[in-house]
Amino acid sequence: MKSDARVVVIGGGVVGASVLYHLTRAGWKDVLLIERGELTCGSTWHAAGGMHTLNGDPNVARLQQYTINLYKELERISGQSCGLHMPGGIMLAGTRERFDWLKMAQARGRYLGMELELISADEAAKVFPIIDKKYFVGALLDPIEGHIDPYGVTHAYARAAQIAGAEIVRHNRVVDLKARADGSWDVISEGGNVHAEHVVNAGGLWAREVGRMVGLELPVLAMQHQYLITEDLPALKGQKELLTAIDFEGEIYTRQERGGVLLGTYERAGVPWSPRETPWDFTQSLLPEDLERIAPSLEVGFKHFPTLTEVGIRKVVNGPFTFAPDGNPLVGPIRGLKNFWVACGVMAGFSQGGGVGLTLAQWMVEGDPGADVWAMDVARYGDWATLAYTNAKVRENYSRRFRIRFPNEELPAARPLRTTPVYERLQAAHAVFGEYCGLEHALWFAPSAKEAHENITFHRSNAHPHVAAECRAVHEAAGLLEISNYGKFEVSGPATEEWLSYVMANRVPRAGRIALSPMLNERGKLIGDFTMCRVDEQRVFLICTWAAEVYYRRWFERHPPPRGVTVRPCAMEYVGLSIAGPNSRALLQGLTSSDLSSRAFPFLSFRQIDIGMVPALVGRISFTGELGYEIWVTSEYQRALYDLLSSAGREQGLRLFGGRALNTLRIEKSFGTWAREYRPIYGPHEAGLGRFVDFAKGDFIGRAAALEEKESGGTLRLATFSVDAADADAAGDEPIWHDGHVVGWVTSGAYGHRVGRSIALGYIPAALDSAQEGFEIELIGERRAATRESEALLDPGGSRMRG
Ligand SMILES: Cc1cc2nc3c(=O)[nH]c(=O)nc-3n(C[C@H](O)[C@H](O)[C@H](O)COP(=O)(O)OP(=O)(O)OC[C@H]3O[C@@H](n4cnc5c(N)ncnc54)[C@H](O)[C@@H]3O)c2cc1C
Repeated sequence: MKSDARVVVIGGGVVGASVLYHLTRAGWKDVLLIERGELTCGSTWHAAGGMHTLNGDPNVARLQQYTINLYKELERISGQSCGLHMPGGIMLAGTRERFDWLKMAQARGRYLGMELELISADEAAKVFPIIDKKYFVGALLDPIEGHIDPYGVTHAYARAAQIAGAEIVRHNRVVDLKARADGSWDVISEGGNVHAEHVVNAGGLWAREVGRMVGLELPVLAMQHQYLITEDLPALKGQKELLTAIDFEGEIYTRQERGGVLLGTYERAGVPWSPRETPWDFTQSLLPEDLERIAPSLEVGFKHFPTLTEVGIRKVVNGPFTFAPDGNPLVGPIRGLKNFWVACGVMAGFSQGGGVGLTLAQWMVEGDPGADVWAMDVARYGDWATLAYTNAKVRENYSRRFRIRFPNEELPAARPLRTTPVYERLQAAHAVFGEYCGLEHALWFAPSAKEAHENITFHRSNAHPHVAAECRAVHEAAGLLEISNYGKFEVSGPATEEWLSYVMANRVPRAGRIALSPMLNERGKLIGDFTMCRVDEQRVFLICTWAAEVYYRRWFERHPPPRGVTVRPCAMEYVGLSIAGPNSRALLQGLTSSDLSSRAFPFLSFRQIDIGMVPALVGRISFTGELGYEIWVTSEYQRALYDLLSSAGREQGLRLFGGRALNTLRIEKSFGTWAREYRPIYGPHEAGLGRFVDFAKGDFIGRAAALEEKESGGTLRLATFSVDAADADAAGDEPIWHDGHVVGWVTSGAYGHRVGRSIALGYIPAALDSAQEGFEIELIGERRAATRESEALLDPGGSRMRG
C-alpha cells in the first residue's frame, strides 16, 4: 500500500467504487481505496440489484438516469460484465389516488425526457401476465428499468478505476483518522498509515463509525430488508423476461430471477439493525429470515400475483442497508472539517451510485458539484438530526417507501422536537402545524380544536376556506405570523461591509437599511437569497433560509471573513413575529414611542425599537406584498411580544395566519423562495433577481459569470402563470407545455385568494420570454390552459408594501 495519496476512499461497496472511478475520470489518478474485507462485503453483495429513474426530486432522478446509462460504458471500459437486464418496468396502481399519482409521475418524467406510458389494468395484465387484474385500476410503464448484478457493477467500477491508475487495498480496516494542521489527513489502518490530502467516507453500513473517527454523528441508520426468491414458475418458461414491477398496495417490488420471481417488500413495521453501532465482524453476512414480519405484504402479494402460490420459496434474504431520514443520500464536504467528504446513506446504490460518484468527484476536483444536488447534500441536516431523530424518521420513511406523499401532507414521526416560546399559544389558537428541520411552525388556523387537522389530498383541502380568510385579513386589515423558521446570521466587526460585499451579489445597505441580495457561486448560480439588515456600521443581521444554515456555514468557511469579523449563526437565539396588512402600522405605532410614519421609518428600514417593554429589531418589510413589519426578539421576549400584538390587534382586525397563507401571498406577488424558484441551476437574471446584483460595487463571488448571464440573457426565464385550474392547484414539478411540447416546469403553485385565481411560478426557455399564449400546465394528468402574466398578479408596482 502506498504511504501517500491525494485521496483515500474508505469503503469498497458500490458507492466507494463509483467515487474512485469518477475521481480518476475527473483527472485525479493518485487515489487509493481501502476496504476492510472483500469489495461488496457490506450491504452491496446481497442487494436485489433493481434500478429505476423515478425519484421525488427531479435532480436526483437526473442522476439516476445518468447511473443507469453508465453501465454499458462501464462494461466497455472495464471488460467486466454488470449483468445488465433491461426488460423495462411496470408500476401498478390499485386505487384511483395511486393512478393520479402515476399520472403526476408521468408528467414529471416528461421534462426529464422519460417516455413513460399510462396503461389500463387490462393492458397491464397483457404485458405483465402474472397479476390478477381485478386488483388494479391501471399502471405506468417505464422502458428504462431493470436490474444488474451488484458484484459485477462494483467490480466494473473498481476495475475501470484501476485501469486509470487507482489503487485498491482489501482486507485492511481503517481504524482512525487524524487531521493535520494543513487540512490533510493521516489515515491509520491495520495495514499501515497513509497520508492523504482528502478522505472520502463511503463506509456504507459503517459510515457512522467512520464519521465518529472525526467527531461526526451522521444521520444514517440501517434497516433490515427482506426479499425472497421463488422456485421456477412454469408460466415463465420460454417467455421473454418479466418486467420489473412495483405493486404499491402490497408495498412490494418484483423482478424475474432465473426461472422464478424475486419479491421484496418495505413492510410497515420495519426493524432497524444495529441502531447504535455496527459490528465490525459483520462481513459478507446476512440476518436471520423473519417471514412473519413481512407476512401482511406477502398475503397481498400472493393475492395480486396468484401464480406465485403454485411454487415454493427457494431462498430468503434478510440484509441491512442504510438510509438518511428522508431516504436520499448524504453527499458532499462536511462543515468544520477540511478535505473530509461523505458519500453515504445511499439506499438505492444501483440507481444512484453512479450519480453520487459523479457528483462527489466533480465537487472535489472542480470545487462545485456541477449540478443541483441540494436534495442529497449532507448539509441539509444539522445537529438537530440526532441518532434518535434519525431512528424515528428512517423507520417512518422505510414504512412509507411505497406510499403516496401528498403535497399537503405532514409526517408525524419525531414530533414535536423543536418548538418556539409561542408554540402553546398557537396551539391554543387551533394551529395546524408543519415541521421543517425539526421545528414546528403553524401552517394555518382552524376555527376549533376539532377542525384542526387537514385532509391529505392532491386537490384543495379543507384548509382552503380558512387560508382564504387569513389572506383576506392580511389584505384588508392585519395578520400576525410567526417567522422564527428563518435562518439568521449576525456578521460583526470592522470589515463586515468589505466581506459581505464580496460574498453577496448586492451592495451592503447603509446603517438602518435593508437590502435583498442573492448569493452566487463561482458559476454565477444562485446558492442563496438573503435579507441584509444593517444595524450599524459594524453589525449586519442576515436573514435567510433556515434549511440551508449548515450549507451557508460551510460556504462561509470556504470564503472566510477577514480577521476581526465574526459570522455567528443565531437562528434560534432570535425568534420572530411578523405583522402585515394595511392596519399593521397603526397597530405597531400604538405600542411604541418610535415614529413609524412612512417618512421616519420608510420601506426597507431596520432599527432597534422598543415595543412596549420588549427590545426588538424591527424591519419594515414583508413577504406578503402588504405593508408589514418583521420583528426579531431574543426568545425570552417572544411570548410578551405575542401577547402585546394580539391584544392591541383586536381593534385592528388582527388575525393569525400561517405558512400556507404566506405561500399564497408571496406567489401572488411572484416572490420566489429558496429551493423552489432559487436553486443552483438558475442564474439571478433568469430568476428575475437581476436588479439585486450590483455590478458597480466591485468584485464579488460569481460576478464574471453573472455579467456574462446578464449580457447573454441566460437560457431560462422564471415566469408567472394564471392557470385555468378546477379544484387542484399546481404544487411544484408539473410540466409546462407550449404549443403541444413540454418546455419547462413549475416551481411553486397555489390558489391566489386576493386575486381570485390559481397561480403557478415556473421556468420556461428564455426564447419564449415574449410568448403569452399557448401555454398549458399539467395538473393531475390534465393539461389546463395557462396564461403567461407579464408581471405579478397583485400590486406589481409595490405601492401596498411601500405605502
Ligand atoms: C436485501 C437488500 C436488497 C437491496 N436491493 C436493492 C436494489 O434492488 N437496488 C438498489 O439500488 N439497492 C438495493 N439495496 C441497497 C444497496 O445494497 C445499497 O444502496 C448499497 O449497497 C450501498 O452501498 P455502499 O457502498 O454505500 O455501502 P456498503 O455496501 O455497505 O459498502 C461500504 C463498504 O465500506 C467498507 N468499510 C466500512 N468501514 C470501513 C473501514 N473503517 N475500513 C475499511 N473499509 C470499511 C465495508 O466493508 C463495506 O464494504 C438492497 C439492500 C439490501 C440489504
